[in-house]
Amino acid sequence: MVCSFCGKERSDTVLLEVNDLLNIAICQDCLEAMKQEAKANGNADESSNYEETNVEVKVKTPHEIKDILDQYVIGQERAKKIISVGIYNHYKRILNGRDDIQKSNILMVGPTGVGKTEIARTVAKILDVPFCICDATTVTEAGYVGDDVENMLLRLIQAADYDLDAAENGIIYIDEIDKIARKSESMSITRDVSGEGVQQALLKIIEGAEVSVPTNGGGKHPHGDRMTIDTSNILFICGGAFESLTMNKAKQKKAGFVIQDKTDDNKEDKKNLTAKDIEKQGIIPELIGRLPIIVELSPLTKEDLRRILVETKNSIIKQYKELIGLDGVEVEFSDEALDYIADKAYENGTGARGLKSIIEQFMTDLMYDLPSESDLNKVVITVEDNELIYNKEYKVA
Ligand code: ADP
Repeated sequence: MVCSFCGKERSDTVLLEVNDLLNIAICQDCLEAMKQEAKANGNADESSNYEETNVEVKVKTPHEIKDILDQYVIGQERAKKIISVGIYNHYKRILNGRDDIQKSNILMVGPTGVGKTEIARTVAKILDVPFCICDATTVTEAGYVGDDVENMLLRLIQAADYDLDAAENGIIYIDEIDKIARKSESMSITRDVSGEGVQQALLKIIEGAEVSVPTNGGGKHPHGDRMTIDTSNILFICGGAFESLTMNKAKQKKAGFVIQDKTDDNKEDKKNLTAKDIEKQGIIPELIGRLPIIVELSPLTKEDLRRILVETKNSIIKQYKELIGLDGVEVEFSDEALDYIADKAYENGTGARGLKSIIEQFMTDLMYDLPSESDLNKVVITVEDNELIYNKEYKVA
């Protein structure tokens, strides 16, 4: 008999009678598959004694996480290591349902443009979980647990396409956490209330709570006006410059107190910042307590900056090469050009952000001119009179 489902002629095929009306032939394999499906959907009576297939969800190991981080983030070896372990532990805790183990939220301390956001973003990419970036300075003041803290959660829910389950396991990066510090360093009665109020509001969502979030109209989503999200498994990564902490170090370094080079940056990073250091910067102890992993990121060296230009997977130079390549023009950056860009960015003091602004300015002019040129084969970007220039090479007829 031929199975009506798989179409194969098999000896084990039997006839199914549906309401005495319809005769359907089904082979044993298709019958089994159908039963399984029914069980999975919870329709079968015997579903209770159906042993759940043990779906093994594997957390990437710290090594695997760091290997991928290495493709996107140059330097910051110690930070990448600590974060890989933190991330591994965080998701291991979730997958094993161990709410008794404290969540390992992370605080990243380091100057602007050294990769804090990039690390958080890459981690979310590695784990394939929803991710959003928020700015602590936009949160409302003093105990008005306004919509703003909830807005962070809304952003995450939106990043998850309104899939609450996914959002509840996502990652929120909160930038500029140092900007909501108490203004006065001493813990006197004249403390700056506004910063503290915001910290309290953040504390509430970071420590894990059921939070009702307004969906902000739109009306499209199936959750009505408000949704309730449980934040206990959301990983919070906070970032801040904490200038007086990092500046001191830079000064000390300049004055020769910390004699080291990038070759042993592990050594320097091991002198970890402590919770006490952060508390002195005006972050309330309760909040610091919820950020048990404190990671310090170092300023980028010229060498780091040069490597960022070419080595990262999505490096800005690779992107421009691709973009201009679409016009059939090859782009080459000379070694001098790369050194020049790295030097200038270093002088800027805005970390790798400087690279972007320097290249963007130059490339805008170049991309304005290129499409008007015909027969162009290649442009070589190099340095002349302390300026970036480009030389054109034409196709030979
Ligand atoms: P911040 O430390 O201020 O959060 P970001 O991570 O946003 O800095 O970095 C700004 C830009 O510079 C991003 O485009 C990022 O890709 C790049 N960048 C910064 N630091 C690094 C790094 N260590 N390796 C690779 N790219 C970096």
